[in-house]
Amino acid sequence: MMKNWIIALLLVPTFHSCVIAQHQDPAQLKYADLMTEETAKKHLTLLASPEFEGRGTGQKGGEKTAHYLAEQFKSYGLKAPVNGDYFQPVNLVKVSYQVQRFVVNGTAYENGTDFFIQGDNKQATYEADDIVFVGYGIQDKKHNDLAGVDIRDKVVLVINEGEPKDANGNSIVTGSKKMSEWASSRFKRVQELLKRNPKTILATGDYVDQNMARFGKRLVGGRFSLDDGNNAVSGTTQAPVVNISSRLANELLAKRQTSLEQQKNTPSTFTIPTKVDAEMGITKEKFADPNVLGLLEGSDLKDEIVVVVGHYDHDGILPDGTFFPGADDNGSGTVGVMELARVFAKAKEDGQGPRRSLLFIGLAAEEKGLLGSKFYVENPIFPIENTVACINMDMIGRIDDKHLNGNHNYIHAIGLDKLSSELKQITETANHTYTQMELDYMYDDPKDPMRLYYRSDHYNFAEKGIPSAFFFSGLHPHYHTPEDTVDKIDFPMMVKREKLVFHVAWEIANRDKRLPVDSNKE
Ligand SMILES: [Zn+2]
Repeated sequence: MMKNWIIALLLVPTFHSCVIAQHQDPAQLKYADLMTEETAKKHLTLLASPEFEGRGTGQKGGEKTAHYLAEQFKSYGLKAPVNGDYFQPVNLVKVSYQVQRFVVNGTAYENGTDFFIQGDNKQATYEADDIVFVGYGIQDKKHNDLAGVDIRDKVVLVINEGEPKDANGNSIVTGSKKMSEWASSRFKRVQELLKRNPKTILATGDYVDQNMARFGKRLVGGRFSLDDGNNAVSGTTQAPVVNISSRLANELLAKRQTSLEQQKNTPSTFTIPTKVDAEMGITKEKFADPNVLGLLEGSDLKDEIVVVVGHYDHDGILPDGTFFPGADDNGSGTVGVMELARVFAKAKEDGQGPRRSLLFIGLAAEEKGLLGSKFYVENPIFPIENTVACINMDMIGRIDDKHLNGNHNYIHAIGLDKLSSELKQITETANHTYTQMELDYMYDDPKDPMRLYYRSDHYNFAEKGIPSAFFFSGLHPHYHTPEDTVDKIDFPMMVKREKLVFHVAWEIANRDKRLPVDSNKE
């Protein structure tokens, strides 16, 4: 090992000095070198700090980040291209299941802690003075928990797993060790109960405790989409299923001097006097987190636009205060966009500005399904036909699992020649001339199971026929966890990757001919 390393040291400088130096453009070198670890660290430490609360969509931290970006763009002297504004509001809706209250016998219980809900009902109130316990809720010839029981408009409590067994441990329904469908299907008994029109079902079992331990508050999140202008709140009149913890179920059963354990062995059916007062259902909230746009106007080819993007949103903060710093995802790419904007603007100030225009965009709501970029390409500020390329930085600050014990001097380059063979040539030349990293193309394999080309913002541009590049440092164990923190960023490599993107953008913005669309690879 040591020997090869020494040979490499001897050979590399010679190679650099005689082959590469003669092709380097001093202007490009000068402005690339203005991007520093110090600046990157300053921005990223702030963006990943508790103050920015994980930059969540529809949250204070996301709004704060958008303003920070706009301030930076302004300070670099970029134009505000959205009717004089840096913000392009992205109209979003969040559909989620909200529990206004869930009170049993005067005690308020909490969604995600004491129960979680499967339901798609409109907001409604659910009141009762008693609940009907129906054992396993099985309705079979061999064992029928519902015989002679009317549950219409009642609150029903059911054990939603397992089934009654005989002394030999055989299922009473099948007469053998084989589970009946009542036990093997996760939904059967609840579906059959719903056919009898109860008011609501309280379902319980170990699975509830396990799910809550594993997912906690994440069981109560909502789903974002672009606002289609339809104001109607979706939702049915179907009874919701409230999956309650075994602790809460035992509290209810205690009123009749019994417990889940007892009822699992010898299930019976009875009424429990219990005051229930709940209000819950689907709600629709609107948000308008903005894409943040800054324009650096070009010279003789200024009508042609090169778009440089990175999403600024991340997973935000949970009600319990846990936040997702997202230093790599995508604080790093957001900083990349700011840094390129800053040095290109400086070049222009010095009379070395690009021929084509550069549009820098901090994109909103990527983590919610590439929504900011989707909105931009559907509502472009500059014509899509004049948009010559999209360059996306999404996670450029780490060393991934693949390279951790090997070469750290690398970058994943994704999608380069899917639409334009020249985008790949340009990137390879820029890398050869200036940055000399390993360009890892593993994710371009259409058989790669990660399908990363389709999983970040550039893809919405590519779908419009715009040659697009995705620069990425790869996956790591802290991806989408609260551990994606700034101390784990490899700043020398992050800045080197910014430099490669800078040289690629410089070439695309300054060459005589716009990038041809001459390829159509899967
Ligand atoms: Zn992400």
